[in-house]
Amino acid sequence: MKGVLLVISGPSGVGKSTICRRLAQRLDAFLSVSVTTRPRRENEVDGRDYRFIRPEEFEQARAAGQLLEHARVYGGHCYGTPAAPVEEALAAGRVVILEIEIEGTLQVVRRYPEAVTVYVLAPSPREQQERLVGRREDSGESIRERLGKADGEIRYAQECGAYRHFVVNEVVEDTVEAIARLVEEKRKT
Ligand code: 5GP
Repeated sequence: MKGVLLVISGPSGVGKSTICRRLAQRLDAFLSVSVTTRPRRENEVDGRDYRFIRPEEFEQARAAGQLLEHARVYGGHCYGTPAAPVEEALAAGRVVILEIEIEGTLQVVRRYPEAVTVYVLAPSPREQQERLVGRREDSGESIRERLGKADGEIRYAQECGAYRHFVVNEVVEDTVEAIARLVEEKRKT
Protein backbone atom coordinates (compact mmCIF):
# COMPACT_ATOMS: atom_id res chain seq x y z
CA MET A 1 0.00 0.00 0.00
CA LYS A 2 1.29 3.45 -0.77
CA GLY A 3 1.12 6.38 1.59
CA VAL A 4 -1.47 9.07 1.01
CA LEU A 5 -1.25 12.65 2.18
CA LEU A 6 -4.66 14.02 3.19
CA VAL A 7 -5.06 17.75 3.81
CA ILE A 8 -8.13 19.06 5.63
CA SER A 9 -8.97 22.76 5.76
CA GLY A 10 -12.07 24.81 6.47
CA PRO A 11 -13.35 27.88 8.23
CA SER A 12 -13.10 28.19 12.01
CA GLY A 13 -15.75 26.26 13.88
CA VAL A 14 -16.63 23.91 11.04
CA GLY A 15 -15.59 20.84 13.04
CA LYS A 16 -12.22 20.08 11.44
CA SER A 17 -10.58 18.74 14.60
CA THR A 18 -13.35 16.23 15.27
CA ILE A 19 -13.34 15.13 11.64
CA CYS A 20 -9.55 14.69 11.65
CA ARG A 21 -9.53 12.70 14.88
CA ARG A 22 -12.22 10.36 13.60
CA LEU A 23 -10.53 10.02 10.23
CA ALA A 24 -7.29 9.10 11.98
CA GLN A 25 -9.10 6.24 13.73
CA ARG A 26 -11.09 5.16 10.68
CA LEU A 27 -8.01 5.08 8.43
CA ASP A 28 -5.42 4.15 11.06
CA ALA A 29 -3.69 7.31 9.91
CA PHE A 30 -0.88 9.43 11.28
CA LEU A 31 -2.31 12.75 12.46
CA SER A 32 0.40 15.39 12.15
CA VAL A 33 1.01 17.60 15.20
CA SER A 34 1.85 21.14 14.11
CA VAL A 35 4.16 23.56 15.83
CA THR A 36 2.72 26.96 16.69
CA THR A 37 3.72 30.17 18.40
CA ARG A 38 0.19 30.89 19.62
CA PRO A 39 -0.53 30.46 23.34
CA ARG A 40 -2.03 27.15 24.47
CA ARG A 41 -5.77 27.16 25.16
CA GLU A 42 -6.92 25.70 28.44
CA ASN A 43 -8.23 22.45 27.01
CA GLU A 44 -5.18 21.84 24.84
CA VAL A 45 -2.30 19.50 25.60
CA ASP A 46 1.23 20.29 24.43
CA GLY A 47 2.41 17.55 22.08
CA ARG A 48 -1.11 16.30 21.38
CA ASP A 49 -2.95 19.31 19.92
CA TYR A 50 0.13 21.28 18.97
CA ARG A 51 3.72 21.65 20.01
CA PHE A 52 3.72 25.14 21.50
CA ILE A 53 7.05 26.81 20.78
CA ARG A 54 8.62 30.24 21.04
CA PRO A 55 8.91 32.46 17.92
CA GLU A 56 12.73 31.99 17.94
CA GLU A 57 12.33 28.22 17.89
CA PHE A 58 9.83 28.48 15.06
CA GLU A 59 12.19 30.65 13.05
CA GLN A 60 15.06 28.20 13.62
CA ALA A 61 12.97 25.24 12.45
CA ARG A 62 11.81 27.16 9.40
CA ALA A 63 15.30 28.37 8.49
CA ALA A 64 16.68 24.83 8.89
CA GLY A 65 14.11 23.54 6.38
CA GLN A 66 12.44 21.35 9.00
CA LEU A 67 8.91 22.48 8.13
CA LEU A 68 6.96 20.96 5.27
CA GLU A 69 4.87 24.14 5.10
CA HIS A 70 4.17 27.09 7.33
CA ALA A 71 1.95 30.14 7.58
CA ARG A 72 1.18 33.12 9.74
CA VAL A 73 -2.49 33.33 10.70
CA TYR A 74 -4.89 34.96 13.17
CA GLY A 75 -3.26 37.50 15.41
CA GLY A 76 0.10 37.05 13.68
CA HIS A 77 0.84 33.62 15.14
CA CYS A 78 2.89 31.14 13.14
CA TYR A 79 1.93 27.55 12.41
CA GLY A 80 3.92 24.85 10.67
CA THR A 81 4.05 21.14 9.91
CA PRO A 82 7.24 19.32 10.99
CA ALA A 83 8.43 17.55 7.83
CA ALA A 84 10.28 14.50 9.20
CA PRO A 85 7.35 12.65 10.87
CA VAL A 86 5.19 13.18 7.76
CA GLU A 87 7.89 11.92 5.39
CA GLU A 88 8.56 8.87 7.57
CA ALA A 89 4.88 7.93 7.82
CA LEU A 90 4.37 8.33 4.07
CA ALA A 91 7.46 6.23 3.36
CA ALA A 92 5.99 3.54 5.64
CA GLY A 93 2.85 3.53 3.46
CA ARG A 94 0.57 5.23 5.94
CA VAL A 95 -2.16 7.79 5.46
CA VAL A 96 -1.04 11.14 6.86
CA ILE A 97 -3.54 13.83 7.87
CA LEU A 98 -2.67 17.53 8.01
CA GLU A 99 -5.18 20.01 9.40
CA ILE A 100 -3.85 23.26 8.01
CA GLU A 101 -5.02 26.52 6.44
CA ILE A 102 -5.01 27.61 2.81
CA GLU A 103 -1.53 29.12 2.42
CA GLY A 104 -0.03 25.95 3.86
CA THR A 105 -2.11 23.79 1.54
CA LEU A 106 -0.82 25.71 -1.48
CA GLN A 107 2.74 24.91 -0.36
CA VAL A 108 1.88 21.25 0.22
CA VAL A 109 0.33 20.71 -3.23
CA ARG A 110 3.40 22.17 -4.88
CA ARG A 111 5.50 19.59 -3.08
CA TYR A 112 2.97 16.74 -3.18
CA PRO A 113 0.73 17.22 -6.22
CA GLU A 114 -0.83 13.84 -5.43
CA ALA A 115 -2.18 14.99 -2.06
CA VAL A 116 -5.91 14.57 -1.41
CA THR A 117 -7.04 18.07 -0.48
CA VAL A 118 -10.41 18.67 1.16
CA TYR A 119 -12.07 21.93 2.17
CA VAL A 120 -14.86 21.38 4.72
CA LEU A 121 -17.83 23.74 4.68
CA ALA A 122 -20.49 24.36 7.34
CA PRO A 123 -24.08 23.65 6.25
CA SER A 124 -24.92 27.37 6.67
CA PRO A 125 -23.11 30.50 7.89
CA ARG A 126 -25.51 30.67 10.84
CA GLU A 127 -24.63 27.20 11.96
CA GLN A 128 -20.96 28.02 11.72
CA GLN A 129 -21.48 31.05 13.95
CA GLU A 130 -23.35 28.96 16.50
CA ARG A 131 -20.59 26.39 16.58
CA LEU A 132 -17.92 28.99 17.02
CA VAL A 133 -19.77 30.68 19.85
CA GLY A 134 -20.63 27.30 21.31
CA ARG A 135 -16.95 26.45 21.49
CA ARG A 136 -16.29 29.20 24.06
CA GLU A 137 -12.55 28.93 23.66
CA ASP A 138 -12.11 32.20 21.87
CA SER A 139 -12.62 35.75 23.03
CA GLY A 140 -15.49 37.79 21.50
CA GLU A 141 -13.06 39.78 19.42
CA SER A 142 -11.36 36.69 18.10
CA ILE A 143 -14.73 35.15 17.15
CA ARG A 144 -15.72 38.30 15.25
CA GLU A 145 -12.39 38.35 13.47
CA ARG A 146 -12.68 34.72 12.48
CA LEU A 147 -16.27 35.00 11.25
CA GLY A 148 -15.48 38.14 9.31
CA LYS A 149 -12.67 36.30 7.57
CA ALA A 150 -14.67 33.17 6.77
CA ASP A 151 -16.54 34.51 3.69
CA GLY A 152 -13.47 35.75 1.89
CA GLU A 153 -11.60 32.64 2.93
CA ILE A 154 -14.17 30.28 1.42
CA ARG A 155 -14.07 32.20 -1.84
CA TYR A 156 -10.28 32.08 -1.83
CA ALA A 157 -10.36 28.34 -1.14
CA GLN A 158 -12.59 27.88 -4.18
CA GLU A 159 -10.49 30.07 -6.44
CA CYS A 160 -6.93 29.23 -5.42
CA GLY A 161 -6.94 25.80 -7.02
CA ALA A 162 -5.46 23.97 -4.03
CA TYR A 163 -8.58 21.97 -3.15
CA ARG A 164 -9.85 19.06 -5.20
CA HIS A 165 -12.80 18.37 -2.94
CA PHE A 166 -15.37 20.47 -1.06
CA VAL A 167 -17.43 18.62 1.54
CA VAL A 168 -20.36 20.09 3.48
CA ASN A 169 -20.26 18.87 7.07
CA GLU A 170 -23.92 18.12 7.81
CA VAL A 171 -23.55 14.91 9.80
CA VAL A 172 -20.03 14.26 11.03
CA GLU A 173 -20.18 10.49 10.46
CA ASP A 174 -21.16 11.03 6.82
CA THR A 175 -18.42 13.60 6.33
CA VAL A 176 -15.81 11.23 7.76
CA GLU A 177 -17.06 8.39 5.57
CA ALA A 178 -17.02 10.55 2.43
CA ILE A 179 -13.45 11.71 3.04
CA ALA A 180 -12.29 8.20 4.00
CA ARG A 181 -13.60 6.94 0.65
CA LEU A 182 -11.66 9.61 -1.23
CA VAL A 183 -8.49 8.38 0.47
CA GLU A 184 -9.27 4.73 -0.20
CA GLU A 185 -9.85 5.52 -3.88
CA LYS A 186 -6.49 7.27 -4.00
CA ARG A 187 -4.74 4.29 -2.38
CA LYS A 188 -5.96 2.04 -5.16
CA THR A 189 -4.60 4.23 -7.99
P1 5GP B 1 -6.22 27.30 15.76
O1 5GP B 1 -5.36 28.39 16.31
O2 5GP B 1 -7.69 27.62 15.84
O3 5GP B 1 -5.90 25.95 16.32
O4 5GP B 1 -5.87 27.18 14.21
C1 5GP B 1 -5.93 28.30 13.39
C2 5GP B 1 -5.73 27.88 11.94
O5 5GP B 1 -4.40 27.41 11.74
C3 5GP B 1 -6.65 26.77 11.46
O6 5GP B 1 -7.17 27.13 10.19
C4 5GP B 1 -5.74 25.58 11.34
O7 5GP B 1 -6.17 24.69 10.32
C5 5GP B 1 -4.45 26.25 10.95
N1 5GP B 1 -3.26 25.42 11.22
C6 5GP B 1 -3.03 24.59 12.27
N2 5GP B 1 -1.83 24.01 12.17
C7 5GP B 1 -1.29 24.46 11.01
C8 5GP B 1 -0.05 24.22 10.33
O8 5GP B 1 0.81 23.44 10.74
N3 5GP B 1 0.15 24.88 9.17
C9 5GP B 1 -0.76 25.74 8.64
N4 5GP B 1 -0.47 26.31 7.49
N5 5GP B 1 -1.92 26.01 9.25
C10 5GP B 1 -2.19 25.37 10.42
